[in-house]
Amino acid sequence: MLKISQLFGPTVQGEGSAAGRHCLFLRVFDCNQECTWCDTAYTWAVTDAKAAKTRSGHRYDRHDPAYGLKLMEPDDVLSGLRKLWDVQTRPTIIVVSGGEPMMQQQDLVPVLQQLRDWGHEVHIETAGTIPPTAAFDSVVTQYNVSPKLANSGNRLSKRYKPAVLAALHATGKAWFKFVVTGDHERDLAEVDHIVADVSLPVQRVMVMPEGSDGPTNITTAQQMVDPALARGYGLSFRTHVFLWNDDPDR
Ligand code: SF4
Repeated sequence: MLKISQLFGPTVQGEGSAAGRHCLFLRVFDCNQECTWCDTAYTWAVTDAKAAKTRSGHRYDRHDPAYGLKLMEPDDVLSGLRKLWDVQTRPTIIVVSGGEPMMQQQDLVPVLQQLRDWGHEVHIETAGTIPPTAAFDSVVTQYNVSPKLANSGNRLSKRYKPAVLAALHATGKAWFKFVVTGDHERDLAEVDHIVADVSLPVQRVMVMPEGSDGPTNITTAQQMVDPALARGYGLSFRTHVFLWNDDPDR
């Protein structure tokens, strides 16, 4: 059984190298990180202890019918996607996000294999702490890897797994995206360290401003864009924030 939070779309991929492209979202429930600024904390902050890790401190309801946990068979997931889009005849991108999709690789494979057979691209959004299995990798088109920095509030040993980042890079399908906050000099220095430590290609590295509102995104982006470009990094916005104010259904 798959642990799912949401299926939604059609929408645009908001972030990273595929930003702006047409897609459907398959958002899984549960995560192995506890980012203070997480914009999908409803997928994991369902206990008082986990809620206390978030900036808002809000504890979400695991049984919330809209965003809470749904246990679904692979066929239920495919049926749910079919209600959103004619997935059997109109290929698009299926963005598997979370939460942390890599926690459910084995159960995701049959769903993603069917979607690949129907012609879709499968893009996996991951924090890069769990390596892909061979079976899982065989059904993935692209990994959008977002290693977490100190600004996430997660301890180093939990958020930084250089061997996993190297394994994802070795697939040839990974792009790396780092969330940068208002303290962009500190964050960019940490990105530099990771890029050097793992030997990541700078042309596959993007930095993205943290923030769930447009003005915060723009201010941080303006501050960090020149130092990021000087390093060879790209800039990602959070397109959905500008369009829909971080509406969780878009
Ligand atoms: S890894 Fe992603 S889903 Fe998990 S807590 Fe961090 S931002 Fe949220």
